[in-house]
Amino acid sequence: MTVVSQPVLHPRVDSFLREPKRLLIGGEWVAAVSGRTFTTHDPATGRVLAEVAHGEDADVTRAVTAARRAFDDGPWRRFTPLERQRLLWRVAQALAARADEFAQIEALDNGKSVSVAEHVDIAWAVEILEYYAGWATKIEGSTPQVSMPFAPGGVFHAYTLREPVGVVGQIVPWNFPLLMAVFKIAPALATGNTVVLKPAEQTPLSALLLGELLADAGLPDGVVNIVTGFGDAGAALVRDERVDKIAFTGSTEVGKEIVRAAAGNLKRVSLELGGKSPNVVFADADLDLAVPGAANAIFFNHGQACTAGSRLYVEDTIFEEFTAKVADIAAGLRVGSGLDPATEIGPLISADQRDKVMGYVDEGLAEGARALSGGTRLDRDGFFVAPTVLVGVGPESRVVREEIFGPVVAAQPFTAADGVTAAANDTVYGLAAGIWTRDLSKAHRTAREIRAGSVWVNQYNGFDTTLPFGGYKQSGWGRELGAGVLELYLETKAVNIAL
Ligand code: NAD
Repeated sequence: MTVVSQPVLHPRVDSFLREPKRLLIGGEWVAAVSGRTFTTHDPATGRVLAEVAHGEDADVTRAVTAARRAFDDGPWRRFTPLERQRLLWRVAQALAARADEFAQIEALDNGKSVSVAEHVDIAWAVEILEYYAGWATKIEGSTPQVSMPFAPGGVFHAYTLREPVGVVGQIVPWNFPLLMAVFKIAPALATGNTVVLKPAEQTPLSALLLGELLADAGLPDGVVNIVTGFGDAGAALVRDERVDKIAFTGSTEVGKEIVRAAAGNLKRVSLELGGKSPNVVFADADLDLAVPGAANAIFFNHGQACTAGSRLYVEDTIFEEFTAKVADIAAGLRVGSGLDPATEIGPLISADQRDKVMGYVDEGLAEGARALSGGTRLDRDGFFVAPTVLVGVGPESRVVREEIFGPVVAAQPFTAADGVTAAANDTVYGLAAGIWTRDLSKAHRTAREIRAGSVWVNQYNGFDTTLPFGGYKQSGWGRELGAGVLELYLETKAVNIAL
């Protein structure tokens, strides 16, 4: 592992970090009702980055009032689809123009490499805004030809209207802070909803800067409100009976709490939750692709990705050679601060997360697993864990069954005779899977057999804005991205007129 150094900050990022970070409510930047703040840190150093308003119940109540008013009474309802389209397009352009600033903020607040932040998180967020800008003008109802058998002789004109759901609470995690916010805000605005966004407490900064862009682009006051705070602020948003829908990305555990709490007014709920995704390598795979592919599947974003290919299944005849090569890549990854564009493995988000990840690794090793690479934390400032490849793990081990959310892959062999489907599906999750083979029918067959929302063949994390993304089983409810997510943000009204 090579250790790399840090470049200097963009002047606008420097000044942004110094300004007080307030809540965005009804178009105003305001302090929390309590006056309290919390700090956010650079996980590469533990250094405090900014003081942020600590939003709680009373702040959520104010934000929902603002969102409710903006939805029920504000000019937003009178925006034409074309006006919504142009507004989202302007936000996309503004974000693209300031991609380097957003990337530095993301690198500092989250720890990911600034180049990944710029070329993945920010670039994709821009494209998502552009994509849903386009959808704003393409939302259509239908004109079914009704038969009305109980009203013979009548003449009827029936049609459906697509209308926004209303006030949407959006709660996002820390692993892709801006991107997860844009996944949710873009389709919500394209369809005319208003929003209260609750960013993750570990990474509130990029969402606040996005709030500035939205206001500059001409978004009316109260259409997007941002309440920074902890889980209790998210819970207050879920409880509030004036919120029509919750869109949540985060852990399966909190997803279950949200479902229970949303029963109050039966608000709509969509959930993007955790995963323990199988990455399956057949012996006939192109190993020049599959080896780096398997490494990237787990080590991208330091393993802090819901789709991380954290269970690696390799056909027994190539198991040893394959896992040794993945371990070689792991050992050669460049470790450093997010601010360095050359960093390949940054810090985990917090000391707690590092300790949780190391707890899993230690438990696996104590059970008899071997670390072909890593297996330790790194002795330096910040919250680093060495990229780890574990072999000799049993199917019941927690390192195989539970989401670790760190740079740790558990590799197991399978035989051609037994196949791999049963093992791949032996999980409560169903978010994603990878398959590596040169055999077309094996690829298609395995893709059908694995119960997961996304299956990638001869690649991993092959996302596209047009493709639905979400989980089977306990990985979630509903699909984001593509045209399908619009359904989550639209009601359908049937109008039937006797002529
Ligand atoms: P988390 O569930 O702890 O927190 C996510 C968000 O929920 C944060 O904003 C948090 O403040 C808030 N929250 C916490 N308790 C709450 C409550 N009781 N009610 C309402 N909101 C509450 O998750 P995390 O640790 O921030 O993120 C990691 C998890 O997110 C992993 O499980 C990962 O797999 C998942 N994730 C899923 C996807 C996906 O698209 N499926 C994408 C990214 C991350």
